[in-house]
Amino acid sequence: MKILVINCGSSSLKYQLLEMDGEHALASGLVERIGESEGKVSHQNHSDATGGQFIVYEKPISDHRSAMNEAVGRLTAPGTGVIASHSEIAAVGHRVVHGGEYFQKPARVDQNVLKAIQQTIPLAPLHNPANLMGIKVAQELFPHAPQVAVFDTAFHQTIPAFAYHYALPWSYYEQMGVRRYGFHGTSHQYVAREAAARLGRPLSDVNLITAHLGSGASICAIEKGVSVDTSMGMTPLGGLIMGTRGGNLDPGVIMYIAEQKGMSLPEINAVLQKESGLKGICGMNDLRDIHAAADKGDARSRLALDMFVYRCRQYIGAYFFQLGRVDSLVFTAGIGENDPAIRESCCRGMASLGLTVDPLRNRNPEKYRGEITAAGSPVRAYVIPTNEELEIARQTADVVKGKS
Ligand code: AMP
Repeated sequence: MKILVINCGSSSLKYQLLEMDGEHALASGLVERIGESEGKVSHQNHSDATGGQFIVYEKPISDHRSAMNEAVGRLTAPGTGVIASHSEIAAVGHRVVHGGEYFQKPARVDQNVLKAIQQTIPLAPLHNPANLMGIKVAQELFPHAPQVAVFDTAFHQTIPAFAYHYALPWSYYEQMGVRRYGFHGTSHQYVAREAAARLGRPLSDVNLITAHLGSGASICAIEKGVSVDTSMGMTPLGGLIMGTRGGNLDPGVIMYIAEQKGMSLPEINAVLQKESGLKGICGMNDLRDIHAAADKGDARSRLALDMFVYRCRQYIGAYFFQLGRVDSLVFTAGIGENDPAIRESCCRGMASLGLTVDPLRNRNPEKYRGEITAAGSPVRAYVIPTNEELEIARQTADVVKGKS
């Protein structure tokens, strides 16, 4: 069964075609700068038959329909394509950022599902319209294939009410849906499944803390396989310190900035989205650059690293306490997978909680099936590369087969 996974942004379209027998990617790509004068297409074939070749070119891509046509054109190109015709695509899985309270699971797209995603736009005004556009274009181009929406928020719909409510007037929740939702759900779900497999236990048996640390970052508490809390809130601005987002903030700061600088809400929003976090503190948002500057003695870069780790440890500590028993702490995404220093700092001094990292394993996790804890550490820590496309494809296949 071949499944096409689509992640549509406002000016980009990411795609991956997966063969579910054996779960491997056949091809993937990115169409960027949709609607601008010069678009960019990057496509890679992963199958051995086509030699893993890379194709990159620029051309105007007027809209998402043209972008999707471009992707299909690459997948089916005579000689270099990985499928003969788009009729080989059995189903299309779409990443949808916000499912509000409508979706606890992935959903096969029909009129009601489209309407619910539409109604959720106020909660994710930048993402949901693009996701919706991707679904509509795919429906036109692949009329034979079921479309499945997989939501970033769905995994966290098991969080209990006492953890997801904000202490605000009740009507804000009832009338506008103001509450915590959480994001990165497909990533947390994927690494949780993988961690349970490495522990050799059913997912429904294990308690985990999963740390998705990338340019966006969130930590999730998982009890008996389901999410019971996560660091992000109503929007992906909350929680941890991230590349350009500062995470949790005293709400009074926003009023103070508005008054002192005479800034409008859209101006403050732009600062909170793009100029805060690690970038706000030291001017850089890539951990590799920040480490290099800190090593050369840049005090602000050192402070940014310390603040990043401190916030991670606050959540890890809180979730240890809430869960009571933790089987494993999992690191994933760009920083979690590649930065041994951050992992080491996050786990420092946790022997009394049953977690002891082995420095050698932490530097070479791939040699130890991702396990970075010392032999005998009751709580095990893993580095597990995330694979959101595969998780979306798995969930799409389950929906199509009627398993979800
Ligand atoms: P992601 O959003 O998961 O793609 O993660 C991207 C971020 O991962 C980058 O902005 C970097 O901060 C971080 N990153 C990627 N590679 C490394 C590395 N080798 N060491 C430290 N951080 C890294």
